[in-house]
Amino acid sequence: MAERQLIIDSHVHLATEAWIDGSLGPYRASVEEYFRRPILIRSVETMAAEYEAAGMRGILLGWDAERSSGRPGIPNDLIAAICRRFGDQFVGFGSVDPLRPNAVAELERFPDLGLTGLKVHPTVQAFDPSSDDVQPFFEAAARLHLRVITHAGMSALGAARPGGQGLRIDLARPALFDRVAAQFPEMPIMLAHIGAPWEAETIAMALHKSNVYVDISGWKAKYLPVPFVRELKGRLRAQVCFGSDYPMFDPLEHLNDVRALDLGAEVSEGLTRNNARRFLGIAPTVQ
Ligand SMILES: [Zn+2]
Repeated sequence: MAERQLIIDSHVHLATEAWIDGSLGPYRASVEEYFRRPILIRSVETMAAEYEAAGMRGILLGWDAERSSGRPGIPNDLIAAICRRFGDQFVGFGSVDPLRPNAVAELERFPDLGLTGLKVHPTVQAFDPSSDDVQPFFEAAARLHLRVITHAGMSALGAARPGGQGLRIDLARPALFDRVAAQFPEMPIMLAHIGAPWEAETIAMALHKSNVYVDISGWKAKYLPVPFVRELKGRLRAQVCFGSDYPMFDPLEHLNDVRALDLGAEVSEGLTRNNARRFLGIAPTVQ
């Protein structure tokens, strides 16, 4: 079966005009300058064709930051519809602002929509993951057997702008998610972007809690910190996942950069396929 061969890209944004000009809007320029490349608008069909050609399946992420940013989100129904239409290429993670009034009700729609997990972004959604206010929300996510991907660490949005355009990166410190990870041990939680510059917190959490995963999206492979690469090859070999941060990164170019790290066959297999499968609750590939 071809599906067994697919590499999983754990961090894919919807590269349509609705997300780039709509949701990112006033943050787009800061992101392009930070990554030093333009963000190209693509159709959903083009995205699916790119992933098919790359032999990859992407975790497609929703966006819901209207309360905090005043910008339109991406409806969870749209993410679900894309993943139904291009099921071989994308698996859907909807997004819900944990502080919006109907947050739990929106989460409860996920199983019927066929969404596998939840994406949150404490910096853009302006919430503290360790606060009492959001614990009932994550309790609902655990009850619904959702997996969670959280943005962690530095943000390109607002970078090199006065006040970071009002965005707080301290809310995305990995350790602020430790309370949720401890409270819901059955719920797999992915800390995106290795949580840099706080990767030491990310490493400690993943070593301490087996339900914590890490993705390497948004960082050039050659810039991954040495202590992190040591853990990726060692004690965290079953918990670190490949991810690009498409469309800011090209997934194939990123994969080639990762391959240049010479991680060895077993670690590479875990990084690019099996660890994300475990995170998603799909059986690992049989060798
Ligand atoms: Zn991202």
